[in-house]
Amino acid sequence: MKFQSIITLVPLLSPTIAVSVQEVTQQISRRHLSIKSDAKSGRVPWPGGEVTWCIDNPRDYPDYKVFIDMAASAINLWMKALGDDTSLEVSPSDNAKPECDSDNAGDMLRIRLNNKDNNQAYVGFTKGNNYMDFDPFRAESKISLVAKLAHEFGHVFGLYHEHQDPTTWGELKINYENLRDWKKFEKNGKKMDHKTASEAGFSAANLLPYDKIALPGMDSDGRLDWKSIMLYPSENYAKNPKKGALVKANGQLIQRNLKPSKKDAKRVCELYPASNDESDD
Ligand SMILES: [Zn+2]
Repeated sequence: MKFQSIITLVPLLSPTIAVSVQEVTQQISRRHLSIKSDAKSGRVPWPGGEVTWCIDNPRDYPDYKVFIDMAASAINLWMKALGDDTSLEVSPSDNAKPECDSDNAGDMLRIRLNNKDNNQAYVGFTKGNNYMDFDPFRAESKISLVAKLAHEFGHVFGLYHEHQDPTTWGELKINYENLRDWKKFEKNGKKMDHKTASEAGFSAANLLPYDKIALPGMDSDGRLDWKSIMLYPSENYAKNPKKGALVKANGQLIQRNLKPSKKDAKRVCELYPASNDESDD
């Protein structure tokens, strides 16, 4: 669920990228919080719109093939949402045996399986450094696991969390007392911003809005997309899932979205536009 916020956001937060508030405002015109094709963050859309994935540690998980089926379903959700309007293609390195080998894995998405409910992915593409961690072995419905995996693929394609958009944060709030690691941070946790929470290792870092200065590497249209697959359901990081961790400002729970929204799809199509050269009809 969480993604590598420190690794991916450090370049965005770097003081060497001087951006005025004026410029930030002008750039908030696109439809989703994502990397940009000209990202200065170092993470860009996948070259040629081609994402090839492989499994990094199949030997540690003899049941790794359950992931292959799950990945096909998650990608299918995306492809249905994207339609013909994109050049994006996602495929395993080898259908039967998608193991990463040292010769070809450099520019692939390397998927590290685990059984610890650790789900996260790097945002966009960086040469030689593209990972996803995913636990496909949870005892929960396939539909829910596939939605979680589709969320991670959203990060891989270049999308950030919908709920961490500083321009729409007023529509959300955190039930701090119900965070799993609240005991450890109850002294000053409520005062922490995203960056401070991230440095402290506080789970709220996955819920809190990004610092506005980070926006030059992202885009937002200033409206929260409640149907986004990149929006956390309230159960994430919640001690008591029925009470929720991230909730609507009026206290209502947010349910898990089970497929990419229209806005998710539109943004991914913008990052990977259909190539005119290839269409001959
Ligand atoms: Zn996430």
